[in-house]
Amino acid sequence: MEKPDWAAPLAEAYERSLAYLTALPDRPVGSVTSAPDLRAALDGPLPEAPADPREVIAGLAAAAESGLVGTQSGRFFGFVVGGANPAALAADWLTTVWDQNACLFALAPAASMVEEVAGKWLIQLLGLPAHASAGFVTGGQMANFTALAAARHEMLRRQGWDVEAEGLAGAPRLRVLAGRQRHDTVDRAARFLGLGSATITSVDTDDQGRMLPHALADALAGSDRPAIVCAQVGGVNTGAFDPVGDICAVAHEAGAWVHVDGAFGLWAAASPRLRHLTAGVERADSWATDGHKWLNVPYDSGFVFCAHPRAHRAAMGVRAGYLIHGAEGERDALDHTPEFSRRARGFPVYAAIRALGRTGVAELVERCCTLAGSFAEQLAAHDGVEILNDVVLNQVLVRFRAADGDHDGHTRAVIERVRRDGTCWTNGTTWQGRAAMRISVSNWSTDQGDVDRSVAAILRCAQPDAEA
Ligand SMILES: *Cc1c(COP(=O)(O)O)cnc(C)c1O
Repeated sequence: MEKPDWAAPLAEAYERSLAYLTALPDRPVGSVTSAPDLRAALDGPLPEAPADPREVIAGLAAAAESGLVGTQSGRFFGFVVGGANPAALAADWLTTVWDQNACLFALAPAASMVEEVAGKWLIQLLGLPAHASAGFVTGGQMANFTALAAARHEMLRRQGWDVEAEGLAGAPRLRVLAGRQRHDTVDRAARFLGLGSATITSVDTDDQGRMLPHALADALAGSDRPAIVCAQVGGVNTGAFDPVGDICAVAHEAGAWVHVDGAFGLWAAASPRLRHLTAGVERADSWATDGHKWLNVPYDSGFVFCAHPRAHRAAMGVRAGYLIHGAEGERDALDHTPEFSRRARGFPVYAAIRALGRTGVAELVERCCTLAGSFAEQLAAHDGVEILNDVVLNQVLVRFRAADGDHDGHTRAVIERVRRDGTCWTNGTTWQGRAAMRISVSNWSTDQGDVDRSVAAILRCAQPDAEA
């Protein structure tokens, strides 16, 4: 066997990476290609013979580039997509180089310890109970899934039922209650867990999408079945926060478990200025949040926390004869996550928190919110532009009024023109039956200049005579 040439493909990847990142400010933010063009660039017969690794990397990068969306750009405002903090990105490279299988302490001691430490840091940053357990998962979806698996375990255990051993057939029926404006991943988690999305009771929300505690109390009073309540901090449209403290009071009174989906909104707790929005969040039973959104860790990265570590481990833990389980003080990740073999996700998280510090995380969150406020203020100053939500966090809903009265059609056309203009990237949504542009500020590198340029581009595209 020849000695491996690590240097050539890695050098190619390094040069391409740097060229990509440094060109971001000057390239259109969106993808500039189509499915047929991409297929033409990438498709071909199954390769028969080996190829030189450096050429593989160069060819892949050249063929993919036009189909990349500039989510790393300071002017990407679509969905809730964070960029990648430089320290986290570099740590993510090392994670790949080290290629640890972070399922067991014995197999990846450093990865295990980094998750233990970063998990503790996250709990402190987010103001959660010190005794909570933590799991590093792929994102908010799996965090919601893992938390609800722990909830399912605990609520059935209290009924004398071992769901891990017996399954759900013949088990006492559980119910799930969640606000009407919940994220779809809650329904999906209920499906994966055999609870069924149809068993979710939708609880009424107010005009910003916040769950109404009295409506929850009424819904809970309607049945004796053990209940899991899913609250949300940071709705994807308005950024609004359910009143978690009141929800916990009502739900715990009824013996229910409270889970908080805080994929991005939970990060408000890291800011002294915004923390009031999450008041009472520490009283919940489990929490889900993302690393790849507001902490700006590269994809994929999410966290689940549970105030009942035993339930968390009962739902996820594995004991198999051929595994080498950690001794006292040696944390096995597979007891906290649905995955078995898995990427060492803790390294980039550790690096992001280390690089920002508590004050840096607070500053990041606050700056994004200030810039969202600037978007709203500048856009609202123009005739025919309306802001549909109370901008409490980093989300702004914008509606463009048309002279002919077709505000929905005009709003969608503006979003499409903005996409083609390429200065920035926003997406559309429907809020309370009305089409809206949705702007989310979630990137560490976004500054006032990015916002001002984007506002100018959006207003240009909203002119009645803007090119169709
Ligand atoms: C993004 C989001 C999710 C899903 O998170 P993923 O990381 O995409 O799996 C869940 N809930 C809320 C409120 C979100 O914003």
